[in-house]
Amino acid sequence: MLKTLRARLQQGHRTIAFPAAEPELVDRFRGRPALVPAKCRDGCRECAAACPTQALTVAGGLQLDLGRCLFCAECASVCPEGAIQFTGEYRLATRTRVALQLAGPTFDLAQALGEELRRLLGRSLKLRQVSAGGCNACEAEVNVLNTVVFDLGRFGVQFVASPRHADGLLITGPVTENMRLALHKTYEAVPAPKVVIAVGACAISGGPFRDHPEQHNGAEGVLPIDLYVPGCPPHPVTILDGLLRLLGQR
Ligand code: SF4
Ligand code: SF4
Repeated sequence: MLKTLRARLQQGHRTIAFPAAEPELVDRFRGRPALVPAKCRDGCRECAAACPTQALTVAGGLQLDLGRCLFCAECASVCPEGAIQFTGEYRLATRTRVALQLAGPTFDLAQALGEELRRLLGRSLKLRQVSAGGCNACEAEVNVLNTVVFDLGRFGVQFVASPRHADGLLITGPVTENMRLALHKTYEAVPAPKVVIAVGACAISGGPFRDHPEQHNGAEGVLPIDLYVPGCPPHPVTILDGLLRLLGQR
C-alpha cells in the first residue's frame, strides 16, 4: 500500500494543460499540410499519382481533400518542388465536408453548435461510440481521451453504453454493410436533438477502404454529420480540439 502511494505521489499531476496551453507534440507529428500551388510545375501530377486515396487533384489548381487524406506524406515525398509540406498544425476539425477541401493557406475550423442546442446540452455531452468497421486505430485514439492525460470528463464529455442515454454518436470506420443497420438503429435510439461526429478518414470518406463494395464510403451518405475530424487516425488532441470547438469551449 505504501509503495502504491509513493508511486502515485511520484507520478504527480499528469493531465495536460490543453486547451489553456498548446499541446506538446513530437517533432515527427504530421498535422495539416501546407500547399503552395504556385510552386507546381505545368503538367506535373506526381503527387496525385502517388496518393493512395485520390485525395489530391491538380487540374484547376492543387487541392487536397483532408477528408480522404491518410497523412501518409507520400505526396510530399514525391513532389519535386516542395509544393506540399506537412506542418505541426493539429487543429483540423470542421463542421462541413466542403471545408475539408484544402487549396491554400485558409482553413475554416469548426464553429460551435447553435446557441439553443448548447443550452439544451448544458455542461455535458454524452456520446455513444459506434465502431462501424475500420482498423481500430481511431477507436484507440478516442479511448486515449479517457485517460488521465487528456481527462475528457473535465469538459463534461463522456461516453455512455446506451444510445438512449446519449446526446449523439461518435462514429469511426467506413460503415461496412454489416454495420449499416446497427448504426441506423443506434442513431434512431438517441433522443433528439442529437449530434453526429465522424472521426477519421474512414468515417468521413471510406479512407483506405473507399469504393470497396462492402462498405459505404463513410457515414456521410448514411447520417447527417455535425463534426468532421480528419486523420488516419486523428491525434487525440485533434479530436479533443474538435469536440471543444463544437461545444463553444474554444
Ligand atoms: S498524405 Fe494524404 S494527400 Fe498525400 S499521398 Fe497520403 S493520402 Fe494522399
Ligand atoms: S481512418 Fe485510418 S486509423 Fe481510422 S479506422 Fe480508418 S484506416 Fe483505421
